Amino acid sequence: MDKQTEFVLRAIEERDVRFVRLWFTDVLGFLKSVAIAPAELEGAFTEGIGFDGSAIEGFARVYESDMVASPDPSTFQVLPWRDQKPATARMFCDITMPDGSPSYADPRYVLKRALKKAADLGFTFYTHPEVEFFLFKNPVDPSVPPVPVDHSGYFDHTPQSLGSDFRRRAITMLEQMGISVEFSHHEGGPGQQEIDLRYADALSMADNIMTFRVVVKEVALSQGIHASFMPKPFTEHPGSGMHTHVSLFEGDNNAFYDASAENHLSKVARYFIAGLLRHACEITAVTNQWVNSYKRLAGGGEAPSYVCWGRNNRSALVRVPMYKPNKGASARVELRSIDSAANPYLAFALMLAAGLAGIEGEYELPEGAEDDVWSLTERERQALGISPLPRNLDEAVRAMENSELVAETLGEHVYDFFLRNKRAEFETYRRQVTPIELQTMLPVL
Ligand code: GLU
Ligand code: MG
Ligand code: MG
Repeated sequence: MDKQTEFVLRAIEERDVRFVRLWFTDVLGFLKSVAIAPAELEGAFTEGIGFDGSAIEGFARVYESDMVASPDPSTFQVLPWRDQKPATARMFCDITMPDGSPSYADPRYVLKRALKKAADLGFTFYTHPEVEFFLFKNPVDPSVPPVPVDHSGYFDHTPQSLGSDFRRRAITMLEQMGISVEFSHHEGGPGQQEIDLRYADALSMADNIMTFRVVVKEVALSQGIHASFMPKPFTEHPGSGMHTHVSLFEGDNNAFYDASAENHLSKVARYFIAGLLRHACEITAVTNQWVNSYKRLAGGGEAPSYVCWGRNNRSALVRVPMYKPNKGASARVELRSIDSAANPYLAFALMLAAGLAGIEGEYELPEGAEDDVWSLTERERQALGISPLPRNLDEAVRAMENSELVAETLGEHVYDFFLRNKRAEFETYRRQVTPIELQTMLPVL
């Protein structure tokens, strides 16, 4: 038995843990959970827990449905929103087939495979997301419009507000679970919040994001309100993005930093950005996976619509944030398209793969955009070589269909399932007669 496993078994006794939840994530990014009694845990560590993979979105075909969840002891945490005596804990799982081989459908494995490729090139991939979401007063009822908890805006300090109370409680809980928070504030939309997590290796961060979503929903419910990560709940207000800052380290050195280079951007960083740009449209179906995601990217609201990069340019898809010259270790680039409803494992795997393709292929970085690209005309953008991001899920799926990079990174099973599922989502959507059609056309046609 290794040290981590021993630690978990001891912690279970010392903290009087009665239920251990085993967590994993389906292909669309929904969290799955199975609770086991502590007495089953040793067996779970050695043999895993069997389950029916065909009942999980994207996991298996019915004729090969037996799958095994094996808990990763390094992810053990007691859940702070449950009773503490006796307590409930959780661990993330890796999914394997009955013969012990990793499951091709497990998003955590897709990310691990991409990280292994980076490691073979000598890189560790770090990410740090800024997660935006809305808080609503009313429970989810699709027939009633959501009512935000306040009418404040960006950075507003609202005395005695539900929002700041909420953020304090959520952050305390995240910290109790070993997830460090860097910043938090009110975002631009009414009831909209942002919490930024401190950077971590991409696998821990993807796990952290899954935990984050649960914590945020639990804390909201405990206050009698509702949290949503839907990318664009209001037509007239900005949507919720999950801008993600990324960097590559070689040992202790930030490979994106070069003190002698223009803007301190190393060659590796330039290639990486070029990779993100060249493959941006192909990976968008995953970074922005819902029909609704494209309402957020439709222009304005500080969400990107065009493929370009810029220093400190918030209209660009990839922004290179300014950092103090003595802070080379914090050199990073920010991808602004990804939203808060993406599957973080798959999205991080593709962002990394796009960047690594840039490094391996030594892609040339186009000129940075200094202008507000939303206010340029179509012709001006064309002259600058700036092309649009996919305008809807259909365009994104078509770009993904032609992508070797995405097929290779996700693996055939996840790639095929994802495309099938998203084509169906778009087909259902495009048949809908919407309220705006009735409002504008019925009176006149
Ligand atoms: N809510 C904006 C988005 O959807 C981002 C606002 C900001 O710059 O943080 O991307
Ligand atoms: Mg923000
Ligand atoms: Mg940002």
